[in-house]
Amino acid sequence: MYKTTPFKTIKNYKTFRNIKCPKIIILDNDECLGQFGIFSIIACVAKINDYPKVNFEKLKKSLVKHVLSKGAARPYLINLFKLMYKLKKQGKIDKVVMYTSAPNRITSNKSGYVYFLKDCLERYCGTPKLYDMVFHRDNTKSKVSRCGATIKDVGNVLLKNNYLRHCLFNKNRKISDFVNHFSKNILMIDDKPQNIIKRHGRVIGVKAYTRPCGLIDIYKCVHSVPNLERKLKNQNSFKSLFEETREDLLKYSGTNKKDKELIKVCNVIIKKYS
Ligand SMILES: [Mg+2]
Repeated sequence: MYKTTPFKTIKNYKTFRNIKCPKIIILDNDECLGQFGIFSIIACVAKINDYPKVNFEKLKKSLVKHVLSKGAARPYLINLFKLMYKLKKQGKIDKVVMYTSAPNRITSNKSGYVYFLKDCLERYCGTPKLYDMVFHRDNTKSKVSRCGATIKDVGNVLLKNNYLRHCLFNKNRKISDFVNHFSKNILMIDDKPQNIIKRHGRVIGVKAYTRPCGLIDIYKCVHSVPNLERKLKNQNSFKSLFEETREDLLKYSGTNKKDKELIKVCNVIIKKYS
């Protein structure tokens, strides 16, 4: 199994072409794996360190039970995560990476919002520590497209530190050649494939998954976590949590149950890595 990124060999530029290319799957979050709009509000309010306190274990459990399993997670997400988990265990893929343009919120470290969502997703799918790396708005430098979306560069995943990523961002030729060569076995899944610099890797575009879970499910989630409702009200976020969701439900009518995008993704992964 491929253990370290090949960045070290960048000093021995002439020899790096003999090293095998890592097999990496990169996943976007929002509107790709699900509709997680309310997670950010809930996580950020719950993390505010004043009275009353919210128990994070209970909060994650409740979000899994009442929100993720009621439509916030895209259909077949569990199948996708279990497949990657199995392939990683078998040594058929080397890494699974989260690459989101969402900000980590409150803190840039592992107690931020993006890591909170990562924990919830891994818990929901029964695949602990599936993700090996996480890229979010606050730990990657990125250009912004004309429509305001972040441009994601697959090359970032192959580099060890921000200095090298900074060089790649500034189009350093040696580093660009390096990541182009090593990206051959990388697969990235995103609902905005047009905003990805794929290098020599491959991108699978999926339709945006926009419809959130129902209001009753959100009520159930909030009510089953002690102090959460009070805390949301203290922060003036209780109303907006439901209003935003109500607007989205009106905007994106219909049902998500027939969505089979992640089955398509699973089939590509099986074909490429099994
Ligand atoms: Mg997205």
